[in-house]
Amino acid sequence: MHVVVIGGGVVGVTTAWELNRRGHQVTVLERHDTAGDETSKGNAAQRSYGVVYPWADPSMVFKALPWLIKQDGPLKLRLPPSLDAVRFMLSTLRYAWSPGLFGLNKRAMLRLGIHSRERFLRLEEELNLAFDGGHRGLLHLASTPDELEVYRGTQRILNEMGIASRLLTPEQVYEAEPGMARNGPLYGALSYDTDGTGDCHLFSQGLARACQDKGVQFRYNVQVERLKANSQTVEAVLLRNETGQQETLAADAFVISAGCWSPELVRPLGLKLPIYPIKGYSITVPLKNPEKAPVSTIHDDNYKVVSTRLGDRLRATGFVELAGFNRDIPEARIATIRKSVESRYPGCADLSAAETWTGFRPMTPDGPAIIGRGPRSNLYLNTGHGTFGWTFSAGSADVIAQVIDGEEPAVCLDAFRPGRHQE
Ligand SMILES: Cc1cc2nc3c(=O)[nH]c(=O)nc-3n(C[C@H](O)[C@H](O)[C@H](O)COP(=O)(O)OP(=O)(O)OC[C@H]3O[C@@H](n4cnc5c(N)ncnc54)[C@H](O)[C@@H]3O)c2cc1C
Repeated sequence: MHVVVIGGGVVGVTTAWELNRRGHQVTVLERHDTAGDETSKGNAAQRSYGVVYPWADPSMVFKALPWLIKQDGPLKLRLPPSLDAVRFMLSTLRYAWSPGLFGLNKRAMLRLGIHSRERFLRLEEELNLAFDGGHRGLLHLASTPDELEVYRGTQRILNEMGIASRLLTPEQVYEAEPGMARNGPLYGALSYDTDGTGDCHLFSQGLARACQDKGVQFRYNVQVERLKANSQTVEAVLLRNETGQQETLAADAFVISAGCWSPELVRPLGLKLPIYPIKGYSITVPLKNPEKAPVSTIHDDNYKVVSTRLGDRLRATGFVELAGFNRDIPEARIATIRKSVESRYPGCADLSAAETWTGFRPMTPDGPAIIGRGPRSNLYLNTGHGTFGWTFSAGSADVIAQVIDGEEPAVCLDAFRPGRHQE
């Protein structure tokens, strides 16, 4: 079968890999000139299989307001908010207050995370990709006693799902992370022992090359304008090709992996995807003193900043901002991220020399991604992965390939069903 994958981010590339492995002819269409150049480029670099949670979290509703007001707070809203942002927030509240939904979605996401970890381990065994990746665990620091109590609750669900974790004392944290300075508030940490890291951009590009070696066709600098469909099937995509000409490309099946830009492709077919681009920022910097840097990856709950070791570089990431597709990088956001790194890992790098980046998490108002068959019999979706697209990529690629081949997916996809926001 000839399958066209729209979008060459980490989700599209892993999907192409799995489909090719199953013997399909695959074409990836990507408007940039290389793979992984949008949201998959500068993310927090965590493969956080144990730290996946739905965006619509009832416990966050009352924390959100103080976070919005605080100058260094992690949540930002561009004023005046757009109609899309207001709709998205109202929809989030509706899901957050749906009794029992958070727990169901959290468990579904953890199951997909567990599967994704297995698929990543297999992929890393098969291919020798260089992406500064590893599985050395993840630490969630507690800068207040209350936070530590919350982690005790989190541990119960991790135990239920068979995910290895430990509560660490401050001394155990400093042992695990010898470069960490003893000057910030620290009451302990939750250690997710089997979580991982890795540069999603390097991975996407390396896997795209491996796909090409196996015969997958990557067409870069190609903009898909719309799907050409009848009432039963998608017949073709209409695209603006590498030379600026319009072209029609027919195939047997189509997968939408266009991240934040997926809704516009399926809306004409009657499927509304309420994906909102949740903005975040990162800095990446070469290490000056690697012994003073994180060993793996840490969430500093004091500033809500994530710092991750990527070989001889440090990536630090923060902020959840509703500002539409605005690509500005205000100095104040970067200053907060730097402040977090300087407080926990002073002297590890020259932060003034850091490369800055902003990107958009393709977020659904409830939280789970959108994985499954779309509104035509040969149209499939693997998109809307929000905060966890890097983490879920290997697992979601495997399950969408199973769906396309008519097999029972390895993970129950009820929580991820494409039509759920219209129910
Ligand atoms: C600040 C920040 C930190 C993050 N940290 C983490 C983390 O630590 N761990 C984690 O798991 N996830 C993280 N994420 C989320 C993760 O980066 C995303 O979920 C993931 O990259 C989404 O991948 P994707 O392939 O779906 O989308 P993208 O990477 O955006 O790829 C979609 C591709 O489709 C292409 N495209 C769109 N429309 C068209 C069209 N019409 N024609 C042709 N091409 C098209 C785009 O050019 C793009 O390349 C973070 C995100 C942000 C912003």
